[in-house]
Amino acid sequence: MFVCGPTVYDYVHLGHARTYLAFDTITRYLKFSGYRVRYLMNITDVAERVVQRAAELKRDPLQLAHEYETAFLEDIRALGVTEVDKFERASDAIPKMIAQVSGLINKGFAYETETGVYFEVRKFPKFGELSGLSQEELSLRRLELCSSKRNPEDFSLWRKYEEGLAWDSPWGRGRPGWHIEDTAVSMPAFGDTYDLHGGASELIFPHHEAEIAQAEALTGKAPFVRYWLHTGLLSVSGRKMSKSLGNVIRIRDALKEYKPAELRFYFETVHYRAPTTYSNTGLNAARKRLNRLNDNLTSFLKAATRQGSQTGKASAMLARHEAAFKRFMNDDFNTSGALTVLEEFARLLAKRGGKLDQHSKAMLEEGFRRMANVLGILDGQVSTTTHEGGGALP
Ligand SMILES: [Zn+2]
Repeated sequence: MFVCGPTVYDYVHLGHARTYLAFDTITRYLKFSGYRVRYLMNITDVAERVVQRAAELKRDPLQLAHEYETAFLEDIRALGVTEVDKFERASDAIPKMIAQVSGLINKGFAYETETGVYFEVRKFPKFGELSGLSQEELSLRRLELCSSKRNPEDFSLWRKYEEGLAWDSPWGRGRPGWHIEDTAVSMPAFGDTYDLHGGASELIFPHHEAEIAQAEALTGKAPFVRYWLHTGLLSVSGRKMSKSLGNVIRIRDALKEYKPAELRFYFETVHYRAPTTYSNTGLNAARKRLNRLNDNLTSFLKAATRQGSQTGKASAMLARHEAAFKRFMNDDFNTSGALTVLEEFARLLAKRGGKLDQHSKAMLEEGFRRMANVLGILDGQVSTTTHEGGGALP
């Protein structure tokens, strides 16, 4: 699985948190289901926004980017994002990008002008399939205005710059376009076709369309990616949470008021694909539900055990809840349904706690934690409660 990482020119905000938490949970559930997952994320440290911000602050672009990269890694770790196996910086993959751009020129999909190298979109008729945009709509979206391009929809693979953040290339000094960063990072790691590509829904067009075009034009093989997963937009009072609108809530600020598990629970009450609006009311409601779940779990763990085996009943109870949990999660990762299963399970555990033997209790607790850990909602808050003596879990 490859997920588009952040452009590191500022602190990350809750819009990013939503996306990275969703893919963390998805990875955890894939592992829970027995899959092995290799999860790769790029860090966009080479970008116009990085260059602009560095110029404003009179800083070295890569140095500045790497400070924000450190902050990003701190923030997502503090949030409880644990599943990314490898982060790769765009600046470390420049030779791979140059190789891909050269390959695209050689195959006739790209051309050089005085300003850079461009992908000729008309040579790749599938362009627009992922987003479902028509040719007419595509032609209306004139991104990257530049008079040297053959067609308005062509996108840059390489831009020529004599100065600033630039590397030597067969086309003179310059830096890569944004889209080539991702295929240059993902394809050498995963090959011509891989399973999952994730990112925020605003990246579908043109970013992911461009990735498909680059990859499939290069290899002649389709599909480049078997499943595309996109997280819905997070808005604040009806507008997208974005730095340019000045309505961002930084992850580190949110974590001063809410526990990581509370934020995670909150985002998981909405399907990852659905657009949603950030609200304190919603967050406080999530906190309440999570507190109740924790209270139930605590009272279950504190309840006295009794003699005699109830293993059969207990394992039936666990199996029933696990089946319901899987039913929701197998339905395109329906975390909101899965949360209600765990809430119901915790309620039942609190009710039955005093009627169970030690072994059954331990088994139920372990089963509960395994599912709760997929959703990342325990956050160590309850885990250290009452484990005196026997029945402790690894
Ligand atoms: Zn990307």
